[in-house]
Amino acid sequence: MSNITEEIKKRRTFAIISHPDAGKTTLTEKFLLYGGAINQAGSVKGKATAKHAVSDWMEIEKERGISVTSSVLQFNYDDKCINILDTPGHQDFSEDTYRTLMAADSAVMVIDASKGVEAQTRKLFKVCVMRHIPIFTFINKMDREARDTFELLDDIEKELGIATCPINWPIGSGKDFRGVYDRQKQEVELFSDTHKGTTQGEVKKVDVHNPEIDWLIGTERKSALEEEIELQDGAGAEFDQEMVDRGELSPVFFGSALTNFGVETFLQHFLKMTTSPLPRNSDKGEIDPMSEPDFSAFVFKIQANMNKAHRDRIAFMRICSGEFKAGMNVYHVQGGKEVRLSQPQQMMASERKIIDEAYGGDIIGVFDPGIFAIGDTLTTSKERFAYEGIPTFAPEHFARVRQVDTMKRKQFMKGVNQIAQEGAIQIFQEYNTGMEEIIVGVVGVLQFDVLKYRLENEYNVEIRLDSLPYEHIRWIENEDVDLDKLIGTSDMKKIKDLKERPLLLFVNSWSIKMTLDRNEGLELSEFGRS
Ligand code: GDP
Repeated sequence: MSNITEEIKKRRTFAIISHPDAGKTTLTEKFLLYGGAINQAGSVKGKATAKHAVSDWMEIEKERGISVTSSVLQFNYDDKCINILDTPGHQDFSEDTYRTLMAADSAVMVIDASKGVEAQTRKLFKVCVMRHIPIFTFINKMDREARDTFELLDDIEKELGIATCPINWPIGSGKDFRGVYDRQKQEVELFSDTHKGTTQGEVKKVDVHNPEIDWLIGTERKSALEEEIELQDGAGAEFDQEMVDRGELSPVFFGSALTNFGVETFLQHFLKMTTSPLPRNSDKGEIDPMSEPDFSAFVFKIQANMNKAHRDRIAFMRICSGEFKAGMNVYHVQGGKEVRLSQPQQMMASERKIIDEAYGGDIIGVFDPGIFAIGDTLTTSKERFAYEGIPTFAPEHFARVRQVDTMKRKQFMKGVNQIAQEGAIQIFQEYNTGMEEIIVGVVGVLQFDVLKYRLENEYNVEIRLDSLPYEHIRWIENEDVDLDKLIGTSDMKKIKDLKERPLLLFVNSWSIKMTLDRNEGLELSEFGRS
């Protein structure tokens, strides 16, 4: 096996998804701690003693005058090289958050044990399902009062439509949290919150058949555990690696990221259950990193520089095969020419560093003089294949946008197009009304502010945004549909994208259902083909 293949085999690249506050940052920090990438987990944001949580580095970047919203962290553990892709939430939630999932080979879903599945998790989950990638669940905050275990599993199954298989089982929660029971090893991992920020301190594990267990967790707790396990064994899905690989079964783990309980166990199981970088589809068939010797990668995110003095952009790409060397020349398939990839960078814990080499599975950011678009392929292969494009994700907020000074149409269109090309916004036009007005759709409302700010600062164009009441967009899958004949609801709006493809806007999901009912054979999609 070549050195390159060996390096690729070691790679595990996953995205971490959750609703804000479920504990994603805390869990990521603890992972890094095990990887030795940091010495002590910086206490999570908001505390008096807080250093910045490492994956939460956007503020720091802002202070330095550069802004990069997606973070990728790399660390080594147990002979594996792990890439974690963070998916920003809160106000930063944007189409980029979805696109980040396109670069991952699996996803870890963090759920707050007192809340269950929440809105943002639901949205991100849909993209994981579309890609059929393995999804692992970490039910966090067991040191706090949690919902009933069966109820939590049920919630995941019903809300997300995926079967679950608990690998371990919690014993109590909150003040009564005693630990977790490993179903396969039949041993109890006893909870202790004394080693919060460190990796030191052995976790005590006791065989469930050991009589000591009775006084360690209490006889009542023990019989409750036995009952619950019996019920679960009888009714729950069995572990099935193939179903996990297809994203149809989610292994579930319980723990407490804050007190560093259950994190290492999770990491170990996770590494066993996930694979090295897998083949990806291209227009020349599947490209397998284990047999394709040449470098290939695709761009999944473009980050404009907020600093006016530096108009350059950074293109983030996922390497799919081969080896990357700083400054190498590669063929940009969509642009049809050779380019030199300069200033490659990667995140290592809190540091952004210039790197010399990277391998299939890794994520790198390179200097982009404005030539790359989302989904573009770069390769050194003579074959010159192009990876399958990245879909367009449904915006949820829409506004009509017009320039205040009508004389500035040219700059306005240039700016709007450029920002759309970077993937920060989507632009549409009225269908058949002859009006030239532009409708902008965004995934997170903050993108409207970014648009306004950037048009003013970079293109010298002032705009007015009038918000529209629509919340749902659907692409029409049928090739032959006659939009004029389509019978919608009174609140439905027909629009088209810049490639003249028709789309529908709806105020609520009820109207989507009505429209489907009224037009036999109509197929609507939440994802647009690129
Ligand atoms: P994120 O928004 O998902 O990144 O969540 P954070 O990691 O920032 O955590 C949100 C809050 O929950 C913080 O105040 C954390 O200290 C707290 N937290 C995270 N994990 C746990 C846990 O296991 N137990 C408890 N009690 N609190 C936690």
